[in-house]
Amino acid sequence: MNRRNRDAANRFAERRRREDEAPRLLAEAKNLASLKLELEERRSGVVSAEVSHIRRVVVEHAPALFEVPCSDPSCHDGGHDLTRPIMAELRAGATRFEGEDVCYGQVGNVPCERLLRYVGIATYK
Ligand SMILES: [Zn+2]
Repeated sequence: MNRRNRDAANRFAERRRREDEAPRLLAEAKNLASLKLELEERRSGVVSAEVSHIRRVVVEHAPALFEVPCSDPSCHDGGHDLTRPIMAELRAGATRFEGEDVCYGQVGNVPCERLLRYVGIATYK
């Protein structure tokens, strides 16, 4: 394996390990019935979203971990860790919440700074 593939494999293994070790979502937000996340990512300074998708979380099996990889393939060590803000909303019983997160990775010598906007829609039992 070349270095890039090995890095990717390591990151994947690391992510799997964190998912396995994270508490279950339902242990942290007991009454949660469903959760949908709308994610929109754009380069800094660009108005229109380049990447957007909807993630439906399988509440029964999901870990309490919300990490979104950076969609720029040349971004190194980037991504968005939304675990803390999203878990705070779910523990508070929010049915709709939104926020933004800036990628912490590097593209070459400069910070990536891709902006991820998220909207969460949750229902509770
Ligand atoms: Zn990035």
